[in-house]
Amino acid sequence: MAHRIAIIAGDGIGTEVMPEGIRALEATAKRFNIDLEFTTFEFGSCDYYLEHGKMLPDDWFEQLKGFDALFYGAVGWPDKVPDHISLWGSLLQFRRQFDQYINLRPCKLMPGIKSPLAGREPGDIDFYVVRENTEGEYSSVGGKMFEGTDREVVIQDTVMTRTGVDRVLKYAFELAQTRPRKKLTSATKSNGISITMPYWDERVVEMAKGYPEIAVDKFHIDILTANFVLHPDWFDVVVGSNLFGDILSDLGPACTGTIGIAPSANINPEGHFPSLFEPVHGSAPDIAGKGIANPIGQIWSGAMMLEHLGYKEAGDALVSAIEEVLSAGDSQVLTRDVGGQGTTQSLGKAIADAISR
Ligand code: ATP
Ligand code: MG
Repeated sequence: MAHRIAIIAGDGIGTEVMPEGIRALEATAKRFNIDLEFTTFEFGSCDYYLEHGKMLPDDWFEQLKGFDALFYGAVGWPDKVPDHISLWGSLLQFRRQFDQYINLRPCKLMPGIKSPLAGREPGDIDFYVVRENTEGEYSSVGGKMFEGTDREVVIQDTVMTRTGVDRVLKYAFELAQTRPRKKLTSATKSNGISITMPYWDERVVEMAKGYPEIAVDKFHIDILTANFVLHPDWFDVVVGSNLFGDILSDLGPACTGTIGIAPSANINPEGHFPSLFEPVHGSAPDIAGKGIANPIGQIWSGAMMLEHLGYKEAGDALVSAIEEVLSAGDSQVLTRDVGGQGTTQSLGKAIADAISR
């Protein structure tokens, strides 16, 4: 049976890298005999907003819920639509309504890419950040008192539920289980945040009992960020609350070079709803329309999507094809951000060719 993929290219370079993402997926599907069926949607973009006064149609949930996955480009065009409208009106709706409670980002230094961390080679940095995506510090609970006076008090609470904490930890432990090093690091701050973070730590200890083969450690977020920079080779799977995961899932990919190649996934692991796969980068208005955006973030997100759909071998092969093209280092093929003079299309085509060989 065909896997149904909803395509939402969005704005700016999203519309340029998406065709390359599809090209790579089609080539991979052909080689591995996977049946993918793509359906393109115009909504979820600022142009749609300008025409309809909203980012999504009222029945978007009904339209999308039956898909096996959503493949997203990038959303936002601040000159036309304020970011809080474009982002809240599309991507964040998907994350919430489809209960995509895992945000997953691989942090892997690829061949031919220069890490901002001096002396680091591919192989030194190869880990995942797993971020809790639905509660924690980003629960909008709290309020203001004595507003406008000099006695103003502002409070925002962190909400952790056993269900919310356990499900993200379980996902992270299961992921660590599939990795050769079988290592899990928990981000905490239980020396300063005295109620929620000790609870998080307790749940980690409890969950670890079910995974005796996994080596577990924890760091306070302050020293953990330092260690991402100083010792990225220590990490395998790193799990954090919404806020800590947010910080780590930007820092991690930043340690692996250019923003144009980093992928991400917003996952509903049980498959009750579709999961969403998108590059880390945004719509990049500064380079949009020039055909020079790096398509690797989109293509790699496609590899994550294949893995999620149950085709790990195909996903791994697509990542290998990306590595092959980056290693070859052909400046006519590579885009500028990775030292070449090529285009979005030349790089996308080279990767599709590599997977087809
Ligand atoms: P957002 O707010 O949507 O997360 P942003 O506006 O913070 O995104 P991006 O749109 O990701 O940031 O762009 C940040 C910088 O990185 C820009 O200078 C942009 O040109 C560059 N950039 C982003 N994506 C790519 C890409 N795929 N290829 C090359 N350069 C990129
Ligand atoms: Mg932006």
